[in-house]
Amino acid sequence: MIDLRSDTVTQPTDGMRAAMASAEVGDDVYGDDPTVNRLQRVMAERFGFEACLFFPTGTQSNLAALMSHCGRGDEYLVGQDAHTYKYEQGGAAVLASIQPQPLEHEPHGGIAIERIAAAIKPDDIHFARTRLLALENTIGGKVLPSDYQREVTRFAHAQGLHTHLDGARIFNAIVKLGVDERSAVAGFDSVSVCLSKGLGAPAGSVLLGAAEFIRHARRWRKALGGGMRQAGVLAAAGLYALEHHVERLADDHANAAAFAAGLRELGLQVELPQTNIFYVEIPRRHVGALADHLTSRGIRVSLGVHTRLVTHLNVSRAQIDLALQAFRDYPAW
Ligand SMILES: *Cc1c(COP(=O)(O)O)cnc(C)c1O
Repeated sequence: MIDLRSDTVTQPTDGMRAAMASAEVGDDVYGDDPTVNRLQRVMAERFGFEACLFFPTGTQSNLAALMSHCGRGDEYLVGQDAHTYKYEQGGAAVLASIQPQPLEHEPHGGIAIERIAAAIKPDDIHFARTRLLALENTIGGKVLPSDYQREVTRFAHAQGLHTHLDGARIFNAIVKLGVDERSAVAGFDSVSVCLSKGLGAPAGSVLLGAAEFIRHARRWRKALGGGMRQAGVLAAAGLYALEHHVERLADDHANAAAFAAGLRELGLQVELPQTNIFYVEIPRRHVGALADHLTSRGIRVSLGVHTRLVTHLNVSRAQIDLALQAFRDYPAW
């Protein structure tokens, strides 16, 4: 099977499994797991934050971050298509009594500063207190422009807002831009990073921030059921991924570019990818038959009129060529 649905479908490599098997562990709720502690130190150092906390998932890391920035009746500004707003069941509202104020995106994936300015509520008894701006990078495979990031975070801080980055795929942005971790997250008070996406770990995310912020997040993590015990077996996978699976993200980006170019040659409407994720428009009349055809060729795709395709660690260039050939061989174009 060639699975192009998501970069979360990767299998841990032999090297990663060996690192997990030999990890030194302890009870992380007591802060006793040396491998978790090492992962947290390494990530805090690489990203230039005081502190870091390991989570089972990115959803929980984002939610704990929102809960640490905002209290009940506070509001956060967020993009309509942002993961924290749209793809986490509204957890901030449902579980934390934080009101989301969703805003339209710009084509680059950010939110226009004027739109943000207009959405910040004045101090008035009628309104929720606007506390936080949350952005996402990469978003839909797009990298936030660095100039925009600098201006929007400066603006948010000048308005007294905190800034959170859902950096589930920040390493794709780092590799794409050729910048270091610190500049990639400059301007954000907190950042959530997934180890289980392009980096290929079986589970795990980290939250980065100031020491006091992470102290709050550790309390919320426990309340949310994220206090794991001998979590070092998972943290070891993350440490292994940081060492072995970051630079190779460039291969995923090149594979996505080649795939998109090939689909374009078939006359399909494709936005050329910046990283490992892109979308192709499939004429509605072909959706059902094309899905069956691809399945018969061992290609897994979440096929729809707006189909997301994702490259990753477990898809080689040769497999991209096979997938392209399967699209070409679809008899009814
Ligand atoms: C996957 C993802 C998350 C959530 O991570 P999980 O580990 O699946 O809970 C958050 N934000 C973005 C942008 C993601 O892609």
